Amino acid sequence: MNLILLFPEDFVATDRVLLSGRRLRHVLEVHRAAVGQCLCVGEAGGRIGRGEVLRLDDDGLELAVTFEREPPPPLPVTLLLTLPRPKVLKRVLLAATSLGVKRIVLMNSFRVEKSFWKSPALVGEGLREPLILGLEQARDTVLPEVLLKPLFKPFVEDELPALSVGSTRLVAHPLTERACPREVFSPVTLAVGPEGGFIPYEIEKLQEAGFLPCALGERILRVETAVTTLLARLF
Ligand code: SAH
Repeated sequence: MNLILLFPEDFVATDRVLLSGRRLRHVLEVHRAAVGQCLCVGEAGGRIGRGEVLRLDDDGLELAVTFEREPPPPLPVTLLLTLPRPKVLKRVLLAATSLGVKRIVLMNSFRVEKSFWKSPALVGEGLREPLILGLEQARDTVLPEVLLKPLFKPFVEDELPALSVGSTRLVAHPLTERACPREVFSPVTLAVGPEGGFIPYEIEKLQEAGFLPCALGERILRVETAVTTLLARLF
């Protein structure tokens, strides 16, 4: 936790917060902070600043907070991620959030198990947790938007063209001749497949929607490695 992300309910006064639970334990056990020390804080969706420890014990952490700078700039990318299994989803959401992705679309594919769509990792706190951890990791404050698209064909045919308008559309597909571009400074919509890969029909549909298949080389990577590598390579 390189930044303590603060939400409206944490504030007991305009410049004071009182924290308990996970954040308190982390500051006690990992930071081992003491009264008078300053910790990096950020207002959810807002600015970054400092929190001076006023009180720290097993019951709570009280900070006097000031905010002075903007969070880091976002990546100009929409990540179109084929829904992976819940454990992998959490890792990919955390990594993508820490790299600055602000829009993540979780979509279906033939090779996605139906049960994945019923996972607690897709709702409420289950979904928010890896996003918050990613922001805290990277010292960012702006939560990404996550859209769920459980029907492949209607999504790709009817919604994806408008959703990706004005961006370079890429689908990461191993063993494609075209190499994934480097150092792109304009918006990109990047589709990443399921652990078993896209089926040919899905690649065709994505191509009809304007997506160019591209690859990172002949090594086939795990989804979480592929996402991180693609984002690092593109931007
Ligand atoms: N056996 C599958 C592998 C899927 S890997 C197949 O042949 O398609 C899961 C996803 O990660 C892929 O659909 C792709 O989007 C991405 N990926 C993995 N390795 C990649 C590479 N070398 N180049 C581009 N994308 C890759």
